[in-house]
Amino acid sequence: MASSLLQATGFKRALTLCIEGRHQEAEAILRSLQDEFLAVCEENDALKTQLNEVASILDLAEKVQFDGQKYWLMDDGEKKGPFCQVCYDRDGLLVNLQQHESHWECHSCKGLYMIPAKESATKKRPTVIRSTLKKTIPFFLEREMI
Ligand SMILES: [Zn+2]
Repeated sequence: MASSLLQATGFKRALTLCIEGRHQEAEAILRSLQDEFLAVCEENDALKTQLNEVASILDLAEKVQFDGQKYWLMDDGEKKGPFCQVCYDRDGLLVNLQQHESHWECHSCKGLYMIPAKESATKKRPTVIRSTLKKTIPFFLEREMI
């Protein structure tokens, strides 16, 4: 395996030329080998970067939870969000939703997520017991193109 790789990359040929005293030819082969080596190093760096990106995406995917409508990020026991479902599914980006009176809005894709009536009512009247809240109703509106 190692010897055939040596043959293929031209090192053996360069060595043979050196032994035979054909130094100029050997030098030419070594120069082209150097170029190939640098290209391989560059490719290796690019692959390492790509691998790190994939690893961080997988790491993120483990922390992201879907509530049937929006995404939440569980980070060290802390719940962050909500985040836009469309942007995450399409681009892998966690885009914070901006809360309005009765809906959340994504400033990136302009998607709207309805806040259930009971949930928004508790914002104004904190005395309402939280356990009476119903689960978030899945609802998504795409803003019409202007
Ligand atoms: Zn979005």
